[in-house]
Amino acid sequence: MAVRPIVIVPHEALSRNAEEITDINEHIRQLAHDMTDTMYRAPGVGLAANQVGEALRLIVVDVEYAYAEPRDKKKKPTILINPRICLAEGAESKEEGCLSVPEFGVEITRATNVKVEALDLEGKPITIEASGLMARALQHEIDHLNGTTVLDHASALKRSLYHRRLRKKARSDR
Ligand code: ZN
Repeated sequence: MAVRPIVIVPHEALSRNAEEITDINEHIRQLAHDMTDTMYRAPGVGLAANQVGEALRLIVVDVEYAYAEPRDKKKKPTILINPRICLAEGAESKEEGCLSVPEFGVEITRATNVKVEALDLEGKPITIEASGLMARALQHEIDHLNGTTVLDHASALKRSLYHRRLRKKARSDR
């Protein structure tokens, strides 16, 4: 079990377009397991590799664990390599936060249903059809792989206020 530090904005890894994974080697398998541990520990419903400082196209998602009653808790992470949204339908607006953007929430309109193609850890092609929170989490994490965070979905004003707040906090932490 290895929990990695989650980077926060304005870390450069969060604005990078993550690279396609061409070889699922030991490094990738270790990274996937560390990311899963990190997501459960946070706790969060998903994590992209950019958030642990690695710009590789790898995400982990589990939208049930964080909300399950203690006795029903079962870890069932979905680990996706090179995920790609191949179908998106409907639209739904909801407030979203992000582990890499502390103390910030913004309403984001996302597709209600998505179909995502990816590879699993064995390199097998898989297709996931998701709706509701799972669909939203997949879109959020795939955004990260494209260097986009919830901040980029906010208005310029809201974004600049947040950056000012971060700078103030950095000064007072010194
Ligand atoms: Zn996020």
